[in-house]
Amino acid sequence: MFKAWVLSKSEDGFQAQLRDVDERELPEGDVLVQVQHSTLNYKDALALTNKAPVVRKWPMVPGIDGAGTILESRHAAWKPGDSWILNGWGVGETHWGCLAERASLKGDWLVPLPVRFDTRQAMIIGTAGYTAMLCVQAIARHDVKPADGDVLVTGATGGVGSMAVSLLSRRGYRVVAATGKPDEASYLHELGASEVIDRATLSAPGKPLQKERWAAVVDTAGSQILANACAQTQWGGVVSACGLAQGMDFPSSVAPFILRNVTLVGVDSVMQPLSARRAAWAALADELDANQLERMARDVPLDKVLEAAASIMAGQSRGRMVVTI
Ligand code: NDP
Repeated sequence: MFKAWVLSKSEDGFQAQLRDVDERELPEGDVLVQVQHSTLNYKDALALTNKAPVVRKWPMVPGIDGAGTILESRHAAWKPGDSWILNGWGVGETHWGCLAERASLKGDWLVPLPVRFDTRQAMIIGTAGYTAMLCVQAIARHDVKPADGDVLVTGATGGVGSMAVSLLSRRGYRVVAATGKPDEASYLHELGASEVIDRATLSAPGKPLQKERWAAVVDTAGSQILANACAQTQWGGVVSACGLAQGMDFPSSVAPFILRNVTLVGVDSVMQPLSARRAAWAALADELDANQLERMARDVPLDKVLEAAASIMAGQSRGRMVVTI
């Protein structure tokens, strides 16, 4: 038996319970793992509070991220005792996830834990940090350099936002952090933001082309904020879009793309091939500052994840929540 959060739906409605589960109930996989740390991403909070159709099979063990050690393996690349990280691949959505002491996973999904990190640090980073790195790499791939101008990060106090602020400033960019939490300005400056702006300045409908302000953007908000960010991006700039914290819609026009040569890059972390994951994690190991990681981290015990998920949904959280299993 092992402990796990189990989400279920029945005639009585939705239930989230921390309970004992029999190992024989685990889904098919070629590695049996011990999970040492997991984390709470926005998507996990949606699943735990049943706010959006994240879970597509019931019952479900949530937790899209995990880090720990291999217990048993039928996969050529993994042996007992190896340390691993998992991000996405539909785990916690269609396949039982990592808010549990044990998981049965596919060896093809796992990335080796970089030697620089322990499992807790890997989960402070989690999908948020790995996605922020994919966004930063997209900006670099499109040849935006620090000398080209300011980089805007939206949802800046969130997990992806905090990581993006830290990573971009370490690469020498001048980072402008947009936030709905003005009292967190000093936190954002400590992470490396040069300027903090009120997200309300980006939240309302605006003109299709506005004053050119950004060489690049990391957007976690979608909707009107993404539309305004594109409208304010300078000629030849790049916008990495990865989130929908404001909304799923995109009320924009083609003007920034056809008149200012702006590139809109979609970033999905869930189905990235293993080579891209390994490259992103190698870059995170090279570039992330351990003190910055601690600044972003809040530890959550396994039995307190529901309260923590509710605070994410209420928009009250900051940085990254790491769950000790
Ligand atoms: P968090 O909950 O940690 O952060 C979200 C942040 O968005 C909040 O802290 C807040 O920051 C801002 N925000 C909250 N409500 C609103 C609103 N109504 N309008 C505008 N901004 C708002 O989430 P994550 O950082 O984990 O994820 C951010 C987004 O990115 C989510 O939509 C998530 O689903 C998506 N995501 C996508 C991935 C992908 O693969 N494409 C991977 C990971 C995340 P502030 O107060 O500072 O403005």
